[in-house]
Amino acid sequence: MHPCPGPRTAPDHARGPMSTGQRDPRLALLVDSIVRLSRGELSSRIEPSSARDEVDAVITGVNLLAEELEQVYEQFEKRVESRTAMLRQAHLDMMKMAMSDGLTGLANRVALMDAIEEALSLAENGDSPPALLLLDLDSFKNVNDRFGHDAGDRVLKEVASRLNQVVRDTDMVARLGGDEFAILLPAASLDIAMQVARRALEVLAERIELDNLNVHSRASIGVRVGTSGQNAEELLLDADTAMYAAKREGRSIIKVFEPVMLYSRQLRSQMATELRGAIASDELVLHYQPVVDLASHRILGVEVLVRWQHPVRGLIPPDTFIPLAEEIGVIHDLDRWVMTSSLRQLGQWRNDLHLDEDFQLRVNLSALELKQLDLVDFIRGLLREFDLPARCLVVEITETAIVTRGEVEMYSLLSLKQLGVGIEIDDFGTGYSSISYLRELPVSMVKVDRSLLAELDTRPGQHEFVAAILQLIRAAGLEAVFEGIETREQAQTLRDMGCSSGQGFYFSRPMPGDDMAALLTTTHHLRAEEHLEGARSTPSR
Ligand code: C2E
Ligand code: MG
Ligand code: MG
Repeated sequence: MHPCPGPRTAPDHARGPMSTGQRDPRLALLVDSIVRLSRGELSSRIEPSSARDEVDAVITGVNLLAEELEQVYEQFEKRVESRTAMLRQAHLDMMKMAMSDGLTGLANRVALMDAIEEALSLAENGDSPPALLLLDLDSFKNVNDRFGHDAGDRVLKEVASRLNQVVRDTDMVARLGGDEFAILLPAASLDIAMQVARRALEVLAERIELDNLNVHSRASIGVRVGTSGQNAEELLLDADTAMYAAKREGRSIIKVFEPVMLYSRQLRSQMATELRGAIASDELVLHYQPVVDLASHRILGVEVLVRWQHPVRGLIPPDTFIPLAEEIGVIHDLDRWVMTSSLRQLGQWRNDLHLDEDFQLRVNLSALELKQLDLVDFIRGLLREFDLPARCLVVEITETAIVTRGEVEMYSLLSLKQLGVGIEIDDFGTGYSSISYLRELPVSMVKVDRSLLAELDTRPGQHEFVAAILQLIRAAGLEAVFEGIETREQAQTLRDMGCSSGQGFYFSRPMPGDDMAALLTTTHHLRAEEHLEGARSTPSR
C-alpha cells in the first residue's frame, strides 16, 4: 500500500473554492486521486476543504470508496492466502497418497522405485550401493481363504509394523501389493542385508494374535545388493528372482541373488508357455501303477500318474510341472483332462477286460480343484457318461492341501463322499499332520508317504513308528494304503503289521495304458510266486 499522499497542513484548495472563472485546484487533485485508485493505490486520500461544498462531497465520497476498496482488497488477499495454503496441503496429501500404500501406510512401489534410483545415483558418486530385500508371505492366501479379507488386512498391517521394527529411520519398508513387501537399505553390505533379513524372519515367525485368531505368517526373502550401472528396475527384478528361488525352495528361506537364477527363471517361463499348449496339443500321457492287496497280491486297482511327452525334452515327470501348472493356473485344465481321459480308459477296460466290479481308479487332484464349485457336477457327469459306479473312483488329495479346510473345499469333499466317490489323503506324514483332523475330515483312506517306508530297515525305531501310524489311522476308522514299496521285505513287513494294500516298484512301476491293459489281461496277481513263498515262511498272521 502506498502511504497516504494527503498533506498534513491544509493546502491552498483546503482553504476554499476559487472565485468564479478560476479553475478549482481540487478538481485536478480529484482526477489525480481517481487515477491512483484505478492503478491499485488504495491508500490514496484527499483532504476535503473547509468549503464543504459539492466538490468536497465528491471528495468525501471518493475517500469512502477508497477505504471500502482497501478493506475488500485486504479480505480478498487473506482469502487467497488461506486458499493457497489449502491447495498446498491438498497437493502434499495427494503426493503422499500417490507414494504410500493405503492399507499399511508404508511406501508404495512408486516411492520405492524413486528411493532406489536415488540410492543408486548416490552410489555412482562413491557411496556404498543399496541393498534390496523382497519378502513374500508364505501361505497368506490361506489366511484370506480361511478367515476372510478383514483378517487378511489385519495380518498385513501387523506384518508392516513388525517390518518397521527391524529397520532404521533411513531405511524404507514398502508394500508392493498383495502379500509382497520390500526393504530398501540405502547403503549396505551383504552382511548387513542378511542381518536385517534374518531379523525380519524372526519377527514374522512370532505368532500373530488377532482377537481369537492365531496366525503364523512366515516369509520367503530374496536379497540383492546393487552393482554399478544397475537401474532400479534391474535391482528389483534381481531381488524378485532371488525371492522366487527362495519360495521354490520352501518356507522361511533367505536367498541371495545369483546370475544362474535368472537362467532357471527364464527356463521356467519358457516351460510355462509350452505347458499351456501341451494339453491342447495332446502332449500329456497317462501311466498307471497297480495298487495290490498285500495278503494275496491281487491287483485292486490302479493309480493314474500323468507325464508330459515333451517334443524336445522327452518324458517329463509330474513333480517337475505340476507345481508350475498350479502356479500359472493350468492345473484346472490338466486335472480335468486327466480325470476325463482316465475315467474313459477305465470304462473301456471294464468293457474289454472284464475287471472286478470293485476295481478302483485313483486320480490325483490338486487342492485348488476342490475350490471349484462345479467339480462334483463334473465328476458326476463323467461317471454317467462312461457308465461307471462312483465307488470305482478314488480321488487323492495331498495332506497339506486338505488340512486347510476352507468352506468350499469342505463342501466339495462332502459332496464327493455323498456321491460315493472315495477320498484319500495322499503323502500322509509329510505335511502338518494334526492327529485330530483325521477324524474330522470326510475321507475314507490314507496313503502313507513313501519316505516313511524308505527308512523302515535303516532307521532305529522306524518299524515301531510305522506300526504306530498304521494303528492311528485304523483308530480313526480309516483304511491305510502304503506307497513306495520297493522290496519284498517291506511288502512282508507291512502285511505282517496288518496293512491291507499298497503299491510300489516291487510290484510294478507305473506303465502306459496299453501295457497296463496287457498286464490286466494276463494276470490278476503280481509277484504271485514270491507271495506264495512269503506265505509259506510266515504261515500265520
Ligand atoms: P503321488 O500321488 O504320491 O504318486 C506316487 C509317486 O511315487 C509317483 O511319482 C510314482 O511313480 C512314485 N512311486 C511309485 N512307487 C514307487 C516306489 O516304489 N519308489 C519310489 N521311489 N517312487 C515310487 P510320479 O509319477 O513322479 O508322481 C509324482 C507326483 O505327481 C504324484 O505323487 C502326484 O502328487 C503328482 N501327480 C501325478 N499325476 C498327477 C495328476 O494327474 N494331477 C495332479 N494334480 N498331480 C499329479
Ligand atoms: Mg497319489
Ligand atoms: Mg503319494
